[in-house]
Amino acid sequence: MRRTAEELNKMRKAGKVVAEMHEATRAAIRPGVTTMQLNEVAAEVIAKRGARSNFLNYHGFPAVICTSPNDMIVHGIPGDYVLREGDIISVDCGAIVEGYHGDAAYTAGVGEISHLAARLIEVTERSMWAGIEQLYKGNRLHEVGRAVQNVAEAAGFSVVREYVGHAIGTAMHESPQVPNYWPGSPGPTLKEGMVFAVEPMVNVGSVDTFVLDDGWGVMTQDGQLSAHFEHTIAVTSNGPEVFTVA
Ligand code: MG
Ligand code: MG
Repeated sequence: MRRTAEELNKMRKAGKVVAEMHEATRAAIRPGVTTMQLNEVAAEVIAKRGARSNFLNYHGFPAVICTSPNDMIVHGIPGDYVLREGDIISVDCGAIVEGYHGDAAYTAGVGEISHLAARLIEVTERSMWAGIEQLYKGNRLHEVGRAVQNVAEAAGFSVVREYVGHAIGTAMHESPQVPNYWPGSPGPTLKEGMVFAVEPMVNVGSVDTFVLDDGWGVMTQDGQLSAHFEHTIAVTSNGPEVFTVA
């Protein structure tokens, strides 16, 4: 759906709060910190900015961010997991301002990380930007997924299929979905005022996943690393405008 200029302004504000959650949690990442502590840092930003959390109580989710270390792909519940030197940690943050949603994620290394982990993070972020570049008026939505998939697979990695990006606005997850791969049929034509969350999840090994007994944490079946990047972006007359940046 297309948003008015006034709606887009509210989404810009929500995006700024999410960007601040990214900055604050990134600054807190170090060996010895728990994922619950990262959640507290993010919750402080939401409170300070007078925003609301779109993650908390979402289908019963108990926190304001998702924290997914190493072979966890997405949706990890913050808790007593202690970050260790060499880990990678995916942090997904969201906020609501004046009824409008922002949603964005990043993966960071904890201290010194392996060459492979660093390459996975670099490629996943680059695949997201390749997808974002496709968000211009008159293009077709499936080009996002095609661009993401090309970057990830050229590097020898694989793109998760079961979890995808989405339109966003007055709800966090709106239609249509934004797959990170060629979906088999063309997507809708992009128009000014449409807003999407582009969020590739890229695995070192196979695409297969499973969900933990807590009903949330999504893991790689083969135990290999996974990374996740996400921004909230509007299609504008000047091309893509990323809302979830500082
Ligand atoms: Mg997200
Ligand atoms: Mg999302």
